[in-house]
Amino acid sequence: MDERNTSNFLQAIVTEDLASGRVTEVKTRFPPEPNGYLHLGHAKSISVNFDLAERYGGRCNLRFDDTNPGKESQEYIDAIQADIRWLGYVWDGNVKYASSYFQQLYEWAVYLVNQGHAYVCDLSPEEARDYRGTLTLSGRNSPYRQRSVAENLDLLQRMQAGEFDEGAKVLRAKIDMSSPNMNLRDPILYRIRKVPHHQTGHDWVIYPTYDFAHGQEDAIEGITHSICTLEFEDHRPLYDWLLEHLPVPSKPRQYEFGRLNPSYTVTSKRKLRRLVDDGVVSGWDDPRMPTVCGMRRRGYTPTAIRRFCDMIGTTRSDGVVDIAMLEFAIREDLNENAVRGMCVLDPLKIVLTDYPEQQVEELRAPRHPSRGDLGERLLPFTRELFIDAADFREEANKKYKRLVLGKRVRLRNAYVIEADELVRDDSGNMTEVRAHIVPDTLGKDPADGIKAKGVIHWVSATHGRRAEVRLYDRLFSHEAPDRGQGDFLEHLNPDSLQVIAEAWIEPSLAEVVSEQHVQFEREGYFVADRHDSRADKPVFNRTIGLRDTWSKG
Ligand code: ATP
Ligand code: MG
Repeated sequence: MDERNTSNFLQAIVTEDLASGRVTEVKTRFPPEPNGYLHLGHAKSISVNFDLAERYGGRCNLRFDDTNPGKESQEYIDAIQADIRWLGYVWDGNVKYASSYFQQLYEWAVYLVNQGHAYVCDLSPEEARDYRGTLTLSGRNSPYRQRSVAENLDLLQRMQAGEFDEGAKVLRAKIDMSSPNMNLRDPILYRIRKVPHHQTGHDWVIYPTYDFAHGQEDAIEGITHSICTLEFEDHRPLYDWLLEHLPVPSKPRQYEFGRLNPSYTVTSKRKLRRLVDDGVVSGWDDPRMPTVCGMRRRGYTPTAIRRFCDMIGTTRSDGVVDIAMLEFAIREDLNENAVRGMCVLDPLKIVLTDYPEQQVEELRAPRHPSRGDLGERLLPFTRELFIDAADFREEANKKYKRLVLGKRVRLRNAYVIEADELVRDDSGNMTEVRAHIVPDTLGKDPADGIKAKGVIHWVSATHGRRAEVRLYDRLFSHEAPDRGQGDFLEHLNPDSLQVIAEAWIEPSLAEVVSEQHVQFEREGYFVADRHDSRADKPVFNRTIGLRDTWSKG
C-alpha cells in the first residue's frame, strides 16, 4: 500500500491556490462544538485539517464553536484538547473560542442593520416556518422586514439588554425569501438565549447562530481553507454572502468533503450520548465506543487512527467505510510495536509428573520476534502449568494440532510434552492433565523423530500471575446500525464484552504499565487498562484479535 493516499481533492485545491498566489500560506482550523466527546468522524476531520496545513508548511487552529451555551461545558473542552494532543496534533498558538469574538460579531450585526441588510423579526417560530416556504414553494416576506434602520438598531440593543423573552425576537439577514436555497431565505443571525455561557458568563443574552458566527470567525483568524462536511454545502452561498457584506479582514473559502461513516459504528454525538445515558456502555470512554477516548482505552493507537484516516482518502462522497480498514491499521501498528507475552484465558492445569516439584527453570524468550531492541523476557518453567482448556482434547482428528491424550505438543518457547492422563472431579469436570516432558526438546525436535504437531501457549501455575481480561468486540452486529430496521439500539452485538475475572499471565506481563500494548501470543492484541490496571491486579482490554473474524470472505 502507498505510504500516503493520493485521493485527497483538497491537496489539489491548495496546490493550485499556492501556485496562483491566491494564498501565500495555508491556514486551516478544526472547529468542534464542545457538547460531547470527539469520535472517529472528528478524528478524520482533525487529520484532514491538521495534515493539510502541515503538508504545506501552514498552520491549523483549534477553535471551539461555542455559540450554543445550553449544551456545552468545560468538561468537553478539556476532553477535546486532551484527545487532539493524544492524536499527536499541535494547534497553532492558543486555543480559540467563538465566544471571544462575540463583541466583534455583535458589531458586525449592527453594521448589517445599518446597511439595511438585517432586521429584527417578531414572528413566532411556527409563523416563521410558515413564512419560510418549502423546497418547492417560495417563502413570503416577514411583516417586520420593512422596519427602519433606527427601529432595528433600537430593538437589537434592547434584545441584548434582556428586555425580551427567549423566542420573542430574532435578528435576520435580509436576503431573498424566494431563493431556491432555503439558507438564503432571511436566515437567523441572532437568537435570545437567557443562559449563562461557560466562557462569557452573563455578558450576553443573545447568541449568534452557527451561520452568522462561522465564516466571520474564519475571517478573523485568517483561515484560508475552511473545511467542513458536505451537509454544509448549501450553506456556502450564505457563508459567502456574509463575507461580502461585512468589512471582514480576510476572505476565507469553504470546501466540503464527505463525512466518514464507518461500518458497524454510529458517529453521531446524540446517539453516542444515548449509549452512555442508557447504560449500554460504561461511559464516553468505554472501550467499545468509537470516541477518541474510547478507542484510546481500547488500545487503538494514534498511529493507526491517523494511518486509517489517510488510507481512506478525502473525497466529496458520503460512502460507508469498512471498519476492518481501521482494524487492519491497528494490527499493522501493533504487530510491529507490541511486546509479546503469554496469557491463558481459560486455564486448565498441566502437571508434569517427571519434573521435580521445587525446580524452576528460567527460560528466555524475545519480547518481540523481530525487534531485538526490545530485549528478552524470563519465562519461569515449573512442574505445574496452565494451558488454555481449548488447547486440550481427549481425542481429536488430525486437524487438531494441539494437545491430545497420548500425543505431543510443543509448549511455546519451551519443551515438547506428551499428555498421559486426564483427571476429572466428581462432577466430571476436567481438573488437570498429567503429562511428561519429552527429553532434550528445548529448541530441538524429539530425538525419536516423533514431532509435536502444534505449538500452544502456557503459563507457570506457581509463578504466573492473575489478571482480569476484558474481551471486547464490536458494539454493533449490524453493518449500518443507524440505517437498519428499527432503532439503532436493536442492533447491539450481545457479545461485545466478556469479562474474564481470572486469567493467568506470565510474570513479565505483570510489569506492563498503564496503556502499554502487548500481544498475547495466539490470542490477540491487548492493552493495560488506563484506569483500572494496577501492579497488584493487572487489567487488560482486548484491542483486537489477531485475525479478522468478521469478514465474510
Ligand atoms: P455530530 O454529528 O457527531 O454531532 P458535529 O458535526 O455536530 O458531529 P462538531 O463538533 O460540530 O460535531 O464537529 C466538528 C467538526 O468535525 C466539523 O467540522 C464536522 O464537520 C466534523 N465532523 C463531525 N463528524 C464527522 C464525520 N463523521 N466525518 C468527518 N468529519 C466530521
Ligand atoms: Mg456540528
